[in-house]
Amino acid sequence: MSETMTAPVPGLRADLKLYDDEALRLRADFPILSRTVHGKPLVYFDNAATSQKPTAVLDALNDYYTRYNANVHRGIHTLSEEATSAYEHAREKVAQFIHAPTPTGLIFVRNTTEAVNLVAQAWARKNLRPGDGILVSVMEHHSNLIPWQIVAQQTGARLRFLDIRDDGSLELDDLDRLLGERTRLVALAHMSNVLGTVNPIAEIAARAHAVGALLFVDAAQSVPHMPVDVQTLDCDFLAFSGHKMCGPTGIGGLYGRPALLEAMDPFMGGGSMIGEVHQEYFTCAALPEKFEAGTPNIAHAIALGVTVDYLSSVGMDRIRAHELALTRYMIARLSEIEGLTVYGHAPGRGGAVAFILDNVHPGDLSTVLDREGIAIRAGHHCAQPLMRRLGTPYMATARASVYLYNTSDEVDIFIDAVRKARRFFA
Ligand code: PMP
Repeated sequence: MSETMTAPVPGLRADLKLYDDEALRLRADFPILSRTVHGKPLVYFDNAATSQKPTAVLDALNDYYTRYNANVHRGIHTLSEEATSAYEHAREKVAQFIHAPTPTGLIFVRNTTEAVNLVAQAWARKNLRPGDGILVSVMEHHSNLIPWQIVAQQTGARLRFLDIRDDGSLELDDLDRLLGERTRLVALAHMSNVLGTVNPIAEIAARAHAVGALLFVDAAQSVPHMPVDVQTLDCDFLAFSGHKMCGPTGIGGLYGRPALLEAMDPFMGGGSMIGEVHQEYFTCAALPEKFEAGTPNIAHAIALGVTVDYLSSVGMDRIRAHELALTRYMIARLSEIEGLTVYGHAPGRGGAVAFILDNVHPGDLSTVLDREGIAIRAGHHCAQPLMRRLGTPYMATARASVYLYNTSDEVDIFIDAVRKARRFFA
């Protein structure tokens, strides 16, 4: 068979047919997907970095600015009341989407990164003592590492690291030893943005709670791609970003157990987060305003509410099943290519697929694929400790990542382009 021909993988194509039909229907909701790049139809496989937006979300932004743009919570006039009601309604919908027991436990933040920093400064800085432990893993995104490094420096707490097994799953045999009695906080990704691994959060929560530690979940890659229920996970905090789940940039969510959020000091001071202000002191507003200082990202929060409506109408179970099938297909097809290594083979892994082509810099591969209209990511994926742990050449990998609108035909186009690139670089 010629290197450029796509080869059917027995069984896999048939499974995908139904999902492909639905993805093709959904694509009509995403105007950007009909554009071309370098004269070729766009194949967008950079969804772990950010996702595309459906018309309903774009319309919600336009509708807010066109019809009822006003500041929230403060004005006693019609536009402000409409904006406040839409903003708070969005909070209810987003809270329901992750099964938060109450909307007051859902803080609007800019993104996952801000949520981690919020908990690091507003909870950990106050509660950690010298010698206390913060347990993370080697697969963490820098956003779920550096804020803990900063607070460790501020408090004298120590970071400990869970390792990974060969298939990219967490080495849970070490968990009890690492937890120890001084661990106060465990902070882990729900789904790795490099290995695709889905970590067993509920099991880890039980083991963390048994030693009195809290569990922070970086759900930047899970909330967009699978059903997430904070009550079933039994986590204490959970963070996610709107832009990775078909929503706008600059808006995300932090869930916290209301009792914990109540006990925490504010993260930032200013308007909106106060009860009373005197010359020398202030009192805090109730939740969630205590953590939303200043004018919030009103338009994008409202659009995030529309985003979760959109995802729910497709069905998070359905999105997850589609991505499992598509990822299995992509990995099977990549594995046929000589000299290509895929990282991450844990069962039930998600759709971020990192790989290396022997002797080809991932950046060069990405540039060549771009000429074919294919968008992938190349680099360390904000996970330098993981790149070192994996021993990847160039401290980098290529990464293709799928979402609800991708099809197996796109995987075939991508595979053909990788094969072509391989011949080109040889
Ligand atoms: N954690 C993980 C696992 C991620 O993939 C990302 C985004 N790549 C982040 C955190 C940070 O997200 P944001 O840049 O939206 O804050």
